[in-house]
Amino acid sequence: MKIFKLELYKEYSIFFWIILVGITGILISTIYSTNKTDQNKKIKSSLNNIYLKKSIQEITRNLKPRYTSKFYVSKSGDTYENILKKLDITNKEKKILLQTILNEKSLKVLRINQKFTFKFDNLSTSKVVEFKIETDKKNEIVFSKKSVENEFTSKKIKKNYSKKLVYKETIITDSLYKSAINLGIKPNVIVEFARLYGFQVDFQRDIWKNDSFQIIYEEFLNEKNLVIDTGEIIFANLNLQDTDLQLYKYEYEKNKIDYFDENGKSIKKTLMKTPINGARLSSSYGKRKHPILGYTKMHTGTDFAAPTGTPIMASGDGKVTKAGWCGGGGNCVKIKHNSTYQTVYAHMSKFGRGIKKGARVKQGQIIGYVGSTGMSTGPHLHYEVIENGKKINSQKLKLPSGKILKGKDRKKFEVNKIKIDVLKSNLISKIN
Ligand SMILES: [Zn+2]
Repeated sequence: MKIFKLELYKEYSIFFWIILVGITGILISTIYSTNKTDQNKKIKSSLNNIYLKKSIQEITRNLKPRYTSKFYVSKSGDTYENILKKLDITNKEKKILLQTILNEKSLKVLRINQKFTFKFDNLSTSKVVEFKIETDKKNEIVFSKKSVENEFTSKKIKKNYSKKLVYKETIITDSLYKSAINLGIKPNVIVEFARLYGFQVDFQRDIWKNDSFQIIYEEFLNEKNLVIDTGEIIFANLNLQDTDLQLYKYEYEKNKIDYFDENGKSIKKTLMKTPINGARLSSSYGKRKHPILGYTKMHTGTDFAAPTGTPIMASGDGKVTKAGWCGGGGNCVKIKHNSTYQTVYAHMSKFGRGIKKGARVKQGQIIGYVGSTGMSTGPHLHYEVIENGKKINSQKLKLPSGKILKGKDRKKFEVNKIKIDVLKSNLISKIN
């Protein structure tokens, strides 16, 4: 009896150990796999972030050396006070700097395009150790902090830096940011590049592997030929899926600078309020009695009555995200313009040439023709503008006016454009 019991116990104990080993195994593998998905999530989200300005800022924020400098060129409407306001220093220090500047006779009048350079010691409480202000093209005043007190000595000197125009081009293999950094382009130039293209490109989604860019920008070199700062972007081209998006810097009025595409159109593009010619606004945005359903319903778009076959234009540059059947909307096209705006065009009789999901369109390009497909009582265009995912009234849209250079201005722009194109070929020939 006793022996039997012992054997039974032995059998049970083996059984117990098998279960224990099994449970431990399951536990370990669960922990491992949750960790793995966590890691995957982290990797994925960080990859996504590479395209974002946020990460650009984060990267630049993380690269904080002890001594940094800030370069600034005065614009119309600037005062010494608001220039100093842009610096990341205490109000007390700003006051000292302002007083120092105002005490200098040759700086009584602040001009446009005057260059400022501030040098900071980020470990010190009053950060500015030196600053320079250009008085004319060849001279500048250098203010250096005395070692003990919070006071500056000033010295008039001949400028010791030279401006150089730099050309860089590359195929984007990883991210725009990484490709640009690999070329030795400074982060502030990349941030400016992203800002200029922000009206037409969604950097998170629109950049594909093997897209490319070209850029010409200013660099300032000291007497040892070291880059001490970067200036403005003169030209850029972003080639996305074989479409060129070019921009040229142009001074369209004295001291007023903007960027234009090759056709003299400002890159600060607005969306068209009426993406169709010769149409009559037949129903505006707001509450109305639905012509087919019969009850009062919010009308989330604007209707334009026009004969069947009237061309419908893309109201801004962007990418087609849908070109197909939308149920009540019939044949419809949806365009994503940037990370903020999308537009929808409904009830089309047919689509424009080459209009399909993924196609890149330019403002004014024909994307389809008026029809009466879907839930519609007669030929018209139903046009919607979506801002940050919310449908808004297109007729009340307030966006920077997309300046188009015409007449004399256009001719002057063309001359400027040719100069830049020649400059570009010269810079390219120097590389090869
Ligand atoms: Zn409608």
